[in-house]
Amino acid sequence: MGARYYHNLSWELPPGTREECSHIKPEDAKFCPECGVSVGLYLPISRIGDYIDDHECFEGRIDCDGDSIDESYWSECIHDMCKMSEEFLGILFTMDTNGDDANCRDFYLDGKVQETWAELVYDEFDPKKLEDPK
Ligand SMILES: [Zn+2]
Repeated sequence: MGARYYHNLSWELPPGTREECSHIKPEDAKFCPECGVSVGLYLPISRIGDYIDDHECFEGRIDCDGDSIDESYWSECIHDMCKMSEEFLGILFTMDTNGDDANCRDFYLDGKVQETWAELVYDEFDPKKLEDPK
């Protein structure tokens, strides 16, 4: 068993795109007759919560809003997230992973991942910030 971490997932639409509307459209419609926006512009962001609920790999780790449920050892996290990202092309996912010995933030877009790690940074000595703790 490896180390256990808390995971938090968020997602956002790319600039200039809109969430898929729920209006019923004729099969060959290029515009929604209800709200008038181009059909092809919509992204299925409202289905991400269902996807999370339907896939076991998220169980006990994140809820349908992407919020952390409990800490876990998730060795297949990158694999599982790349698969999910392939299902939601054009949506940027951000996964924060936090534990005692590591803090990282991975970005997912179109089935690919960019891994980043938090760096520990200390302030430099500044005599103006000296305090007397007594
Ligand atoms: Zn509509």
